[in-house]
Amino acid sequence: MKQNLLDLNYEDLKYFLSEKIGVEEKKLNMRAQQIFTATYQKGLNDFEKFTTIPIDLRKELSKKISFNDSKIVETHESSDGTLKFLVELFDGNKVECVYIPEKTRGTVCVSSQVGCSLTCTFCRSGTQKLVKNLSVSEIVSQIILVKDKLKDWGDQKIVSNIVFMGQGEPLLNKNLKKAVAILKDKNGLNYGNKKITVSTSGIATKIAEAANEIGTYLALSLHAPNDKLREEIMPINKKFKIKDLIKQLKYYTSVVKEPIFLEYVMLKGVNDSIDCAKQLVKLMAQFPCKVNLIEFNSWPGVKFEPTERKDIEKFSKYIQDKGYMSFIRRSRGDDVLAACGQLRTESQKRKST
Ligand code: SAH
Repeated sequence: MKQNLLDLNYEDLKYFLSEKIGVEEKKLNMRAQQIFTATYQKGLNDFEKFTTIPIDLRKELSKKISFNDSKIVETHESSDGTLKFLVELFDGNKVECVYIPEKTRGTVCVSSQVGCSLTCTFCRSGTQKLVKNLSVSEIVSQIILVKDKLKDWGDQKIVSNIVFMGQGEPLLNKNLKKAVAILKDKNGLNYGNKKITVSTSGIATKIAEAANEIGTYLALSLHAPNDKLREEIMPINKKFKIKDLIKQLKYYTSVVKEPIFLEYVMLKGVNDSIDCAKQLVKLMAQFPCKVNLIEFNSWPGVKFEPTERKDIEKFSKYIQDKGYMSFIRRSRGDDVLAACGQLRTESQKRKST
């Protein structure tokens, strides 16, 4: 089996070049840099084209290293320009990722798992059983594939932001850390901490580690201002209570020095009362944060309905009047089921290889 390049961070690559290819110590940095730059900044995926590297070495590399094993098998374009991609992994499993163009930026929303273990009642991804964690390369390749599609290998980054808001729970995937390291590497994709957002349903025991070792923006899918209600719509709250989350989020902000984004999907008659807004404000007073009110995106078979626009505005205004930051997030791509909480793929058993 060849080594998939996209599974290696910069240090791993140096180690591989030294141990498996026999590159001499003093050239390790240069070679790793040449390979990272060609792969992640020029989008090349064939050692033949790595013209900065001597031909003999290129031959050796192509014998032992492969590139991206995933491929885009379907593309759906929304009327608002959002693109949803169905990505087939090496083992036949599929995940979705989404490109969201905006005036001042272009965001790729990536998946971290095939399926999801959380079963949040309003989320379509939660209806698909967890199949597996994505590997480092399966995470990174989603961005590479989208950049390829958009021909985004020039100086100007069309894909300017990455959000881990696709299928799965990123903080339950131990491969997240290395994948983010590759996204952030200066010789690689070179996304800064403020260009990446990891969204979590609130795995309290993993937040401190993320603060110390990942360091990007963090979003918490809160969706309810008290345990009773949150437990009803998000079973994970039975395990990790809001009080525990707040403690961890305080720590996160003390290390990362950026506010937490609270995600709050507006469900008609469930969590959208002014009383809920009141409770939310009390919660927001405890650590630096902003709230994003998300329009609920419907999907076949779901029992919830979206809150009316005027009521979302009222809710938002209440929070703002109390001196906190509240934004209403426009839904994107919902006509092709590409919006928040609408991603789902058919699960497939791992093929034996
Ligand atoms: N598991 C992680 C990553 C998924 S992010 C997390 O929970 O944060 C996807 C975001 O979309 C989450 O905030 C999720 O709660 C929200 N969401 C889920 N279903 C939705 C729906 N039907 N409409 C709008 N947002 C939804």
